[in-house]
Amino acid sequence: NLNGKTALVTGSTSGIGLGIASVLAKAGAQLILNGFGDSDSARAQIASLGKTPGYHDADLRDVQQIAAMMAYAEREFGGVDIVINNAGIQHVAPVEAFPVEKWDDIIAINLSSVFHTSRLALPAMRARNWGRIINIASVHGLVASKEKSAYVAAKHGVVGFTKSLALETANTGITCNAICPGWVLTPLVQQQIDKRIAAGEEPEQARSQLLAEKQPSGEFVTPQQLGELALFLCSDSAVQVRGVAWNMDGGWVAQ
Ligand code: NAD
Repeated sequence: NLNGKTALVTGSTSGIGLGIASVLAKAGAQLILNGFGDSDSARAQIASLGKTPGYHDADLRDVQQIAAMMAYAEREFGGVDIVINNAGIQHVAPVEAFPVEKWDDIIAINLSSVFHTSRLALPAMRARNWGRIINIASVHGLVASKEKSAYVAAKHGVVGFTKSLALETANTGITCNAICPGWVLTPLVQQQIDKRIAAGEEPEQARSQLLAEKQPSGEFVTPQQLGELALFLCSDSAVQVRGVAWNMDGGWVAQ
């Protein structure tokens, strides 16, 4: 039960972030949403579960905007007890053709923003001696795929950062862990399916081929399932789960 807890979920206007925010809201948490696109429908979806969520439109490439979001959380909600670092982007290209500005954006959003939200949330968590920092890494935090160099570098970085922060907080009521999803059918993955369709595959075949290459279950992981894992990591039973990178991936990394 997360009554009385405030949870910030970055990149929660879509996909996995919105799924996790919904599960935490159902469990009683006060949500603060962030992300681009259609924030109204995300806000309405969370509000329908109970409490009206906060929302901040920080672009996580910008340290000043991250600081403004954390200040907003402090001012409006008395700080955050749970940070779900979820926002992320992908770009697929071989290293020698990888756009330099895409590299910089991916490192900033997928990796550096995790450092910034964590460092800014920690003082209040330490004062309360309770906190949960959950970083949505990826199977690409554990293993690589070709043409995803920036993403793989950033996600391996997130897993390393998670372990380091878990050690720094080991004797406190604050835990830091990573969740490593396999394929989840969100706009981020739909883009990669659309590329296959553009290259001539049928939509159904594009989806099943994408899964067949990496995910032995042949099924997508769902945002709801990832939310339930995040909810467990927020629970008191998970207080000794520290510094793990927990994959939920239909068997991807077992191969
Ligand atoms: P998505 O594209 O559906 O959602 C991404 C969210 O991040 C959106 O809310 C978007 O507005 C937000 N965002 C993007 N750039 C931002 C920025 N500069 N500032 C603030 N917010 C920004 O993607 P998703 O698939 O739900 O991915 C969520 C996380 O899960 C990412 O970190 C991704 O790497 C990770 N992940 C996804 C999969 C998958 O198969 N979909 C697998 C493993 C890991």
